Amino acid sequence: ILTLLLPLYLPDGRPVDPDMDGRVEAAFNQLLDKVCQLRQVIADSVPHGVDVSLGMALEAFRAAHGVAAEPEERMLLDWHLANLEYANAAPLADLSMAFWDQDDPYEMGGDHCFIPGGNSQFVRALADGVPIFYGQNVRRIQYGCDGVLVYTDKQTFRGDMALCTVPLGVLKKGDIDFVPELPVQKREAIQRLGFGLLNKVVMLFPFDFWDGRIDTFGHLTEDSSQRGEFFLFYSYSSVSGGPLLVALVAGESAISFEKKSPMENVERVLDTLKNIFSPMGIEVPNPLQAICTRWGTDKFSYGSYSHVAIGSSGDDYDILAESVGDRIFFAGEATNRRYPATMHGALLSGYREAANIVRAARKRAKKVDLSEKTVVSYEVKDIVKDDNIDLDDLFRTPDVAFGGFSVLHDPSISEPDSASLLRVGIGARKLGSGSLFLYGLIMRENVTELAAMEGDEQRLSTLYRDFGTKLVGLDGLGDAGESLISRIKASSKK
Ligand SMILES: Cc1cc2nc3c(=O)[nH]c(=O)nc-3n(C[C@H](O)[C@H](O)[C@H](O)COP(=O)(O)OP(=O)(O)OC[C@H]3O[C@@H](n4cnc5c(N)ncnc54)[C@H](O)[C@@H]3O)c2cc1C
Repeated sequence: ILTLLLPLYLPDGRPVDPDMDGRVEAAFNQLLDKVCQLRQVIADSVPHGVDVSLGMALEAFRAAHGVAAEPEERMLLDWHLANLEYANAAPLADLSMAFWDQDDPYEMGGDHCFIPGGNSQFVRALADGVPIFYGQNVRRIQYGCDGVLVYTDKQTFRGDMALCTVPLGVLKKGDIDFVPELPVQKREAIQRLGFGLLNKVVMLFPFDFWDGRIDTFGHLTEDSSQRGEFFLFYSYSSVSGGPLLVALVAGESAISFEKKSPMENVERVLDTLKNIFSPMGIEVPNPLQAICTRWGTDKFSYGSYSHVAIGSSGDDYDILAESVGDRIFFAGEATNRRYPATMHGALLSGYREAANIVRAARKRAKKVDLSEKTVVSYEVKDIVKDDNIDLDDLFRTPDVAFGGFSVLHDPSISEPDSASLLRVGIGARKLGSGSLFLYGLIMRENVTELAAMEGDEQRLSTLYRDFGTKLVGLDGLGDAGESLISRIKASSKK
C-alpha cells in the first residue's frame, strides 16, 4: 500500500511550505468545482451543449479569481495541473471540459498499491496455457458472412470471429486495414476519442540514496510549459527487490520528451535529482541502468491510454465496444466506458467480449451446420509447450550458481567460448538477496573465473569491465539471447 506521505520540492531543493501546500491544493479543488458549475449551466441552457478544453476553463477561472498569483504558488498549482495531466495522459488543453471525468462515479475504492514483482505477473498468470503467437504484426482483417481472415506479415489466420484488442492509437493511425471498412460511426468515434501520452524514466541505482521508505516525492518547476517533466517520482525499492526509481513525464513534456535522446533525458532527470538531494548533502550516483519509455512513437501503441478529448464523450467508448456484424469484436481499455485507461478496464472488457463471442457463436450454431465451421489452422501444441516453460523454473536448478549469480549453459555445445545465460539478482542492500533479476550472455570459460572470485561486487565489476557483459532485462538479450533461451527450454523438455 502506498504511503500518503508525498514530500514536494521546489526547483532549488527546498521543501514546499506545508501551509502554502494546503492553501494551493484547496484553491485547485475550488477551480475544478467552478468548472463543474460552469458546465452544468451550459448543459442546462444550451440544447446540444458546447465544449471547450478543460485547460482553457481552468485558466480562465484562475486568472479571474487571482489564484496562485505568487511564483511559488503558481509552481504548486502547476504541479497539481501536471498531476491531472498524468491521470489523463494528455495536456489539459486536449481534454473535454464537459466529459473529461465521465468515469469518476465508477472509480473503485480502496488503497493505491504497488504489486511486488510487477503487474506482468497477472498477465503471465492469465496467459498461462493460452496459445499466443508472438511477433505477428496484424496488417489486415477481412470479414464477411463466412468468417474472418486475419493477415499478419508472416501468416494468415482464419476463424469464425476475431477479437481486436489493439490500442486506440493503432486504430487511429490506420495501420490495420479492415476489409470492408469499419462502419462510419465507429471510424468517427475512433477519431473523436483522445489517445494521449504519459512517459516514464525507469532507473536502477546502486543504492537507494532517496530513502526507500518513501514511496513518492514530487518536484516543482518554474517553467509552466514543462510542468509535467519529472514532476513525480515513484520509489519501487520496497517492492521490486532493487533500488529502482521511476520518474514520470506528463502533459506537453511527455511529447517533447520523445524528441530528445534517452541520454539527454536521463541527464535531465539526474539534474533534477541533484537539485533536490545535493542541498541535503546527499550525493546522487549514476544509475546502473535506465530506460526511457516512448509510447508515442511505439508502432504497437502510438500513445499511452485514452481520454475524453474535446468534442468526444463517454458514448464513444460504447461505440468502440460495438461488434461489427457479430464477426469482429473489440476489447481493450478504450472500449470500457466505466473503467477506461486502466488495466482492470482492459481485463473487464475482455471478459465482456468473451461473453459476447460465446453468445454470437451459440446464435450462429443454431443456424449453421457445425461441419461447415472453419477453424483456425495452426500447430499449437509444440509452440505452446515451448512458451509454457518458465525460465524462473529452469533457474531453480541452474548449471552453476554462486552468490547472486546463476548460469544456464547452452545444452547444444560445450566449447569454452560458447555463450551461457547469466542471471544476476539485484537486492536493495545486498546483491543477490533481491527478486529483481538482470540477464546477460557470458562465455562458458568466464563463468569459472567469476565463480572463483570473492563476493558479488568484484564479480559485477569484472563482468562489466573485463568481460564486457552488459546486464539487461530479458527482452534486451537480442536474437542471440532468444535463440539460446529456446535451446535451453527445448533441451529441458527432453
Ligand atoms: C505509463 C503508463 C502508466 C500506466 N499506469 C497505470 C496504472 O497505474 N494502473 C492502471 O490500471 N493502468 C495504467 N496504465 C494503463 C494500462 O496500462 C492500459 O490501460 C492497459 O494496459 C491497456 O490494455 P489493452 O489490452 O487495452 O492494451 P495494450 O496493453 O496496449 O495491449 C494491446 C496489444 O496489442 C498489440 N498490438 C498493437 N498493434 C498490433 C498489431 N498491428 N498486430 C498485433 N498486435 C498488435 C500490442 O503490442 C499490445 O500487446 C498505464 C499506462 C501507461 C502507458
